[in-house]
Amino acid sequence: MWFAKRAVRRFMPGEQLADALDAAETYAPRGITSYFTRLGENLSDLAEADAIAAHYLDALDQIKARGLDGEISVKLTQLGLDLDEEATRRHVASLASRARELELGTMWIDMEGSDYTETTIALFEALRPEHPNLGICLQAYLKRTAADIARLLPLDPAIRMVKGAYDEPASIAYRTRSEVDAAYVAQSMTLLHGSTGLLGLGTHDVALIETIGDAAEAAGIGRDRYEVEMLYGVRTGQLERLAKAGYRARVLIAYGEFWYPWYLRRLAERPANVTFVLRQLLPG
Ligand SMILES: Cc1cc2nc3c(=O)[nH]c(=O)nc-3n(C[C@H](O)[C@H](O)[C@H](O)COP(=O)(O)OP(=O)(O)OC[C@H]3O[C@@H](n4cnc5c(N)ncnc54)[C@H](O)[C@@H]3O)c2cc1C
Repeated sequence: MWFAKRAVRRFMPGEQLADALDAAETYAPRGITSYFTRLGENLSDLAEADAIAAHYLDALDQIKARGLDGEISVKLTQLGLDLDEEATRRHVASLASRARELELGTMWIDMEGSDYTETTIALFEALRPEHPNLGICLQAYLKRTAADIARLLPLDPAIRMVKGAYDEPASIAYRTRSEVDAAYVAQSMTLLHGSTGLLGLGTHDVALIETIGDAAEAAGIGRDRYEVEMLYGVRTGQLERLAKAGYRARVLIAYGEFWYPWYLRRLAERPANVTFVLRQLLPG
């Protein structure tokens, strides 16, 4: 619907890859690198997963052709995880290989709902030794994450820490802000101390970022070991400020037609966003 499309523009520059690449070109001069994700999840047909993988292979070529410091971040269910785990593994391996050939930094695996946590981590563990440019997202709100970090540390992995975007039950997830924030800081510091892999701080919580930055500095850990990662359209001014202050900064730019579930998660993260959507219903 027209008003929904208008509202969603706040969080994504357009539905096509070219829109996302154009947006990335406007961030680069501000010292902000980028990564891209095509929206969509939980496919019902394996041919769709093949098409998504082919799309991402082409996207990597286009990122390189534009000379961007750009990466991609993929959802395993979009590459067929519900249908054929082996085919999904092959797709991830071929994307990681292409990204590496093109010298395009990290090939990121998103983390989805808790039904997929174990399979996603196991797939990462299996592929990472052969694909050292592979990175994975972990969610601070899951009670299992500290153990997952201990399990992955020997791989020196690139890990993007996020608070977590799904509605998980209290039996497996911290539900209060203070618990999630404390877990986020503790897990990030464990990674900075225990691994040489890149840590992505995937959060708009500037206070948390600065707490971790200060603790890292006090421990003599350089800013090359981690980067701040935010979503397109959210707190861009803060991302720019942090980039100017010497932090590595990256923006995640989403595109594609299947934005609805992803968009609802963005709204749920901040009630004020719902007011923003309602304002789009007004003419003008
Ligand atoms: C780069 C990146 C990658 C991510 N990848 C994943 C993933 O793979 N799996 C997953 O489960 N989750 C992912 N997330 C989402 C994440 O789990 C959180 O749901 C989301 O980032 C909101 O939490 P926060 O860390 O920003 O902190 P919050 O405490 O929620 O927010 C901090 C402040 O940022 C602002 N803010 C936060 N979100 C919004 C918003 N949507 N609109 C406007 N302002 C906002 C608010 O002012 C808020 O006070 C990702 C987030 C980022 C930034």
